[in-house]
Amino acid sequence: MTARLNLVVLGKQGAGKGTQCKRLAEIYAIPHVSTGDMLRAAVKAGTPLGQEVAAIMDAGALVSDDLVNRLVDERFKEPDAQRGALLDGFPRTLPQAEALEALLGDDGIKLCINLDVPIDLVTERLSSRRVCQECGNIYKDTDVEAISGTCSNCGGDVIQRNDDQPEAIRARLELYERDTAPLLSFYEQRGLLVRVDGDQSPDEVTDAITRVVREKGLA
Ligand code: AMP
Repeated sequence: MTARLNLVVLGKQGAGKGTQCKRLAEIYAIPHVSTGDMLRAAVKAGTPLGQEVAAIMDAGALVSDDLVNRLVDERFKEPDAQRGALLDGFPRTLPQAEALEALLGDDGIKLCINLDVPIDLVTERLSSRRVCQECGNIYKDTDVEAISGTCSNCGGDVIQRNDDQPEAIRARLELYERDTAPLLSFYEQRGLLVRVDGDQSPDEVTDAITRVVREKGLA
């Protein structure tokens, strides 16, 4: 059996993790596991989990480690995750990184890709970001889909996320520095960290990532 290809994609909010993970999921035929998407789906469906996390997410704060660890644990039991996964937005804290290591064991993380993007650029990207509520496609506020409010991929509503408002953006970027930036040394110490310049076109970023994966003999 082929080894599992579990890849962690790190980077500040707005660094392009979602866009890249969608592409890489297709290229490697492994699921895109985004805890943010899973939590937003729960909020939209009005499940008890969604009701529990809605206000936390709107404020740009972090949901508890226990809760997201359980969510990821369950997701990894599904058949499509048996070949691996692209992890987007998880882990976000050291306890989550440790929980992930315990969960995956020897067949653990193969690579951690950090998308490096300067803070001014991510702030600008987040403020102008619009998303389709149905399929998650990402647009800019100047795109025709954002102006008309209709997704050209699926016809869903294109909206601005509550946590892409200025106050929440500030809160999220502060939390990133405090809780998530330490993961860079966590993965660096394990020899798994690769830095990719995220301030390039999406195609160039995808090329840079697939090159590294190839060079490491992972796919
Ligand atoms: P994202 O789409 O990754 O920016 O996530 C949106 C929001 O979901 C975050 O601001 C948090 O409130 C919550 N969230 C997503 N992933 C995690 C995580 N790994 N740990 C804690 N909270 C998370």
